[in-house]
Amino acid sequence: MGKAKVAIVRIENGDFFSAVQKAIELAGGLPEKIEKDILIKPNILTFKKTEEETSPIITNPEVVKSIIKIVKEKDYNKKIYVADSSGSGLDTSKVIEKTGFTKLEEEGVTVCQISLNGSTEIEPKNPLKLKRTTFSNLSLNSAIINVPKMKTHTLTRVTLAIKNLFGTIPGMEKSRIHAVGNTAKGFSKCLVDIYSVLKDNIVMNVMDASIAMEGHGPSHGSPVKMDLILASKDAVALDAVATSIMSEKPSRVFTTRIASENNLGVGNLNDIEIVGEKIENIRRKFKMPEKFISFLPIGIFFELAKKQPKYKGSGCIACLRCQKICPVQAIVVDKKEKRPYFDYKKCISCFSCNEICPEGVITITRRKYGKHILFGGLLSSLIIALIVILSILLT
Ligand code: SF4
Ligand code: SF4
Repeated sequence: MGKAKVAIVRIENGDFFSAVQKAIELAGGLPEKIEKDILIKPNILTFKKTEEETSPIITNPEVVKSIIKIVKEKDYNKKIYVADSSGSGLDTSKVIEKTGFTKLEEEGVTVCQISLNGSTEIEPKNPLKLKRTTFSNLSLNSAIINVPKMKTHTLTRVTLAIKNLFGTIPGMEKSRIHAVGNTAKGFSKCLVDIYSVLKDNIVMNVMDASIAMEGHGPSHGSPVKMDLILASKDAVALDAVATSIMSEKPSRVFTTRIASENNLGVGNLNDIEIVGEKIENIRRKFKMPEKFISFLPIGIFFELAKKQPKYKGSGCIACLRCQKICPVQAIVVDKKEKRPYFDYKKCISCFSCNEICPEGVITITRRKYGKHILFGGLLSSLIIALIVILSILLT
C-alpha cells in the first residue's frame, strides 16, 4: 500500500470554514465529479443539558456547515444529506434538534436519521467477525464525507474515523453488534468489517478536533481545546495520526491495527505524509480511559482485572436508556427506586450503558472478586511466570 496523506490545520480566530477548506485541499481535495447523492456523516451521539457540555461529544455543526458550503461550491448537482444514528435507544431526531443540527436545513440540505431511506442487510466479504448486519441505504448508496470527532473511548480507547461509521448502522442493530463483538478486540473487528463495506464510498474524512475529549469518552470525558481540523481520504491513516497527536501509539488501537493489517488503509506513521502542522508541535498528552488489561499477555490477569459498570448510588432519573441499550439484557431499572441493577453474569463489559446514561451516574470499576479467587489467580500467575523463567534458564 502506498503513502497516505493526512492534513493537519489550525483553526485560527474561530474561522472554521478556512480551516476545513484548507484541510480538504491539502488532503487532495474532493473529487471533481460525484455521481451519487452525498452523505455527510457527523458524530451526533447524544446531547447534554447545555451546549457547552455537549460540545466535546459531537461534531461541531460549524464544521459540517463549512463542508456543506465546500460541497455546494463544487456544483455536483446532487442531494446532500447530513445524517447519523445516535446512541441505541435514543431518538435521533430529538438529538439532531437538541444539538442544533436542524439549523443546517437552512443551507438547503436534508438533516435526518440515517435510516431515512430504509436499510439493507449486507454480508461483508471475508468478515473478520461480523457475518451480516443491516446498513442504512443512505450510507450504501451515497458518496460519504465522514466527519468524526477526536475523542477517547472507554471500550475502544479512541473513537475517530473508523468508529464514527458505526453510526451508519440504524437503531438497535448497533446493540446486537456489541453482543457479537463481545470484547474490545471483537467489537473493533466488527467496526473494521463495517468500514470494509463502506470504504469505497468515502470521498473524504474530516475530523473535528476543535474541542476534543479525554478521559471517560465518548460521552463523559473532559473537553480538550485543540483548535484543529484534520483531513484525509484514508480513514485508517487519519486515525493513526489523530492517535499520535493524542500521545497514544496507533498500534494500541485495535481498529487502526486490524484495518491496517488487513490492507484497508495505512496505519504506520512512517508510510503517511503529513501536510500542514507537524505532529510534534501540537501533540498533547490525552488522559486515556483506564488501561485495559487485554493488552497484557496472561489471560488470568485479564479475567482478574476485567471492568464492569456500577451505579454511582444516586442521580438516576429512571429514563431506562441503559436498560434499552444493553445488548445482553443485563440491566433492569427499578422505576420506583430510580436505580439500575446489573446482572454481572450476563454483562459483557461493552460500556454502552455508561456511554448512554444522560446523568453520568453509571461508572466503571474493577470487577470485585472473592479473596480465594484473587489468591488462586495470583498463585496461577506466579506458577506460570516460574515455568517461563525455568524454561528460559534451562535452554
Ligand atoms: S450492563 Fe452495560 S456494560 Fe454490561 S453488557 Fe449491558 S450495556 Fe454493556
Ligand atoms: S442509570 Fe442512567 S441511563 Fe439508566 S435509567 Fe438511570 S439515568 Fe437512565
